[in-house]
Amino acid sequence: MQTVAAFDRIGEENAFAVLARAAALQAEGRDIVNLGIGQPDFKTPPHIVEAAIRALRDGHHGYTPANGLPEAREAVVRRTLTTTGVEVSPDTVMIMPGGKPAMFAAITMFGEPGAEILYPDPGFPIYRSMIDYTGAKAIPVPIREENGFAFSAEETLSRITPATRLLIVNSPANPTGGVTPRAEIEKLVAGLQNHPNVAVLSDEIYDVMTYDGEAHTSLLTFPEIRNRLIVLNGWSKTWAMTGWRMGWSIWPNGPDGAYLYDKVRKLAVNCWSCVNTPSQFAGIAAIDGPQDEVNAMIAAFDRRRLLVTERLNAIANISCATPKGAFYAFPNISATGFKAKELASRLLEEAGVALVGGPDFGDFGEGYIRLSCAASEERISVAIDRMAAFLETET
Ligand code: PLP
Repeated sequence: MQTVAAFDRIGEENAFAVLARAAALQAEGRDIVNLGIGQPDFKTPPHIVEAAIRALRDGHHGYTPANGLPEAREAVVRRTLTTTGVEVSPDTVMIMPGGKPAMFAAITMFGEPGAEILYPDPGFPIYRSMIDYTGAKAIPVPIREENGFAFSAEETLSRITPATRLLIVNSPANPTGGVTPRAEIEKLVAGLQNHPNVAVLSDEIYDVMTYDGEAHTSLLTFPEIRNRLIVLNGWSKTWAMTGWRMGWSIWPNGPDGAYLYDKVRKLAVNCWSCVNTPSQFAGIAAIDGPQDEVNAMIAAFDRRRLLVTERLNAIANISCATPKGAFYAFPNISATGFKAKELASRLLEEAGVALVGGPDFGDFGEGYIRLSCAASEERISVAIDRMAAFLETET
């Protein structure tokens, strides 16, 4: 049973603290370029906003089923078919308030004292926080720059023990922008055949954000692990809908696999009843409506990541691998002589640039900082000018 002590093990997402500090400095009149938070700087496309307003006007004010409106689950089925070629049953789809609740549900289902859970490091900080909450042992899988910030099947599989219950994978990845190639995922899945008791949580929230012809590989395309696979996805990033709290996840629902779906549906009944109803109507419109604005946003992220990479690489002592996915850059700053968190903090306080230190994404993040390409090219240039000037005087 979880107690107050377990809550004391819950961590934070430091990007939110950076956002709050940046806002406080702005309130004092400082000009801050905010490259700290993992949230698109675009607005939700208007036809999606209209769908929510229409839902409210049409009187959709009550609860929906805990697993989501049937129409929203059907929309996810269509979207999954388009992006992965896989036809999932609507009875495997949960609509949830964002992607994070799927993380919470999956990790608390498998985590307990004595269990081990593998997670990417550097990676999204909530994985580690939730593992610690359950009392399970958190086993980092190093995500290395020399490996293009991709998962290594070999390094991942070598960390599996008889106590391993869950493996968390994320591609395209936060904070590195790494995309794991299909061949490596094939190796990983092949290796998992030897470990039938290890479930997999695949966080695919950045699935459509890939560049340079890189393709995202969904773990849904491997039927051999479907009976123990949970896929996390959602509207937050793709349709610039972070504040709407709309995510979906796909769960095993027997008879060939675990009946996890009904368990997570019960969790929803107990915890949040359902996602707010107008957001669900907006989510349907997002999937079924025109995608031009999504494509324009991805094209903007593509230009920005190239700009960031080029400009950062022109600064002495910084080297930045070109991100292949998501909307982050994760430059190596170890040659500057700064510890990453100190550099991040000083850049915010002294140079007016908000970004996040690599160690906020795990121990293997030391020596790196994360820049979110969530600002215009002009503002990104201003930020990098300021970083260059700061480093020139400080090193
Ligand atoms: N997964 C990853 C890798 C993320 O970067 C984020 C958000 O930053 C999420 C999940 C959570 O998304 P949501 O805001 O929909 O809960």
